[in-house]
Amino acid sequence: MLCERFLGKVIESSMSSLQIVWLRRDLRLHDQAALYHALKSSKPALLLFIFDQTILAELKHKSDKRVKFLHQTLCQLKQELETLGSSLLVKYGEPEVVFRELISLYKVESVFTNHDYEPYARKRDAHIAQLLSKKGIQFNTFKDQCVFEKDEVLKPDGKPYTVFTPYSKRWKSLLNGFHSQSYPTEKYFANLLKTSPFEMPTLASMGFQDIEVVFAKPTFEPQTILDYAQRRDFPSIAGTTRLSLHLRFGTISVRELLRQTSPLSDVFVNELVWRDFYMMILWHFPHVVERAFKPAYDRIRWRDSPQDFEKWCKGQTGYPLVDAGMRELNATGFMHNRVRMVVASFLTKHLLLDWRLGEGYFAEKLLDFDLSANNGGWQWAMGGGCDAAPYFRIFNPESQTQKFDNKMTYIRKWVPEVLELSYPRPMVEHVFARERCLRVYKTALNEAL
Ligand code: FAD
Repeated sequence: MLCERFLGKVIESSMSSLQIVWLRRDLRLHDQAALYHALKSSKPALLLFIFDQTILAELKHKSDKRVKFLHQTLCQLKQELETLGSSLLVKYGEPEVVFRELISLYKVESVFTNHDYEPYARKRDAHIAQLLSKKGIQFNTFKDQCVFEKDEVLKPDGKPYTVFTPYSKRWKSLLNGFHSQSYPTEKYFANLLKTSPFEMPTLASMGFQDIEVVFAKPTFEPQTILDYAQRRDFPSIAGTTRLSLHLRFGTISVRELLRQTSPLSDVFVNELVWRDFYMMILWHFPHVVERAFKPAYDRIRWRDSPQDFEKWCKGQTGYPLVDAGMRELNATGFMHNRVRMVVASFLTKHLLLDWRLGEGYFAEKLLDFDLSANNGGWQWAMGGGCDAAPYFRIFNPESQTQKFDNKMTYIRKWVPEVLELSYPRPMVEHVFARERCLRVYKTALNEAL
């Protein structure tokens, strides 16, 4: 028995040392790499999640649905663990402070966790690894979030790919059953630390409101994948999986998803490759967080117009497809991929507003917000990202509507007043905006030569 001052609980374990499994973007018990390795090493494993004070403090809205999703998911995980005689330790604070306290109380032998490729997370992990190593505690990290990571898919010259198509070809040529194999954690559940239930911090204790919201389950119909290539581009139909939130927080395993979908649709697998691609880009080129992937694009003289930005945010641009997308985002925290491309192109090219403004707005609103995919999507839309296409590809919102929402079903759902006089006129004329954009981009890129 270990007396647990820190938690005010008793850990019923005769073992003198334990392993900590630090959960972050991998909130599940099945097919989870770090958990598997910890359990297999046969010392009792205590699962830990830290609500990072620094990250939470940056969130603008105290009713942020993502915090609610996390809290709800952790409550479910905790219950699952309690039926197995264990529990989940959830702390609110700075990771360093939490680890200092834990290691002062317990004989922690090692910490197991999965890789996170974001610059903040890399710094944090390096810091924690250093702190632990001073105490002789191992920090073991694993690939879990993606299929291929870091240097696993490189060009023949050993450098990272910067264009998607050759990357995806190489990715697919390297893929074999091993990469999508499951980690059978359940075989070793007996090695979970036996403990009475821990207390869970409430949302209110962390400064957040408890809101009523129902999240979709991490499941999909095989038919969605079979029809994916034909239906994925039409925002009025449920032609995509809506799994992005679950992939973001690891409530579904990407390996499991790949196993189930690869026999059904290569076009769908391509989307998982995009996901890996942007994580790899963020890992190798962290400057993309602040600057354009292609430096010349940092010379573009973006307009300064808070009024225009506000119209875009509110879905009041007078371009129905753009407005429908922004209103869907504001109301639900989701936006269809085709429409994300259209609204991002509109902000950066029609309005000539800095892509980072749009990126930041998406980061605040999207339930599935992921730094690598969001940054990659915005850099792609503005033209200075990892893309072979020239910058003069400018989406015309009207022809996009004709192609992908020709009956205006999606538009009428989100902009019911679209045919009424009260609906605003286009805030900028398309041909004028296109020419202005080409002129400004050309000047900036010529200066860079
Ligand atoms: P599906 O079409 O069912 O695809 C399955 C999964 O593949 C997705 O859940 C996602 O994890 C991954 N995926 C699909 N497309 C992409 C892509 N282009 N890049 C990377 N991964 C992809 N996706 C996010 O997960 N988080 C973001 O913050 C994000 N921001 C974006 C911003 C812009 C400007 C653009 C153009 C795209 C962005 N995407 C982002 C990619 C894409 O729009 C969403 O992943 C997709 O719409 C989610 O819906 P779904 O789960 O039904 O996708």
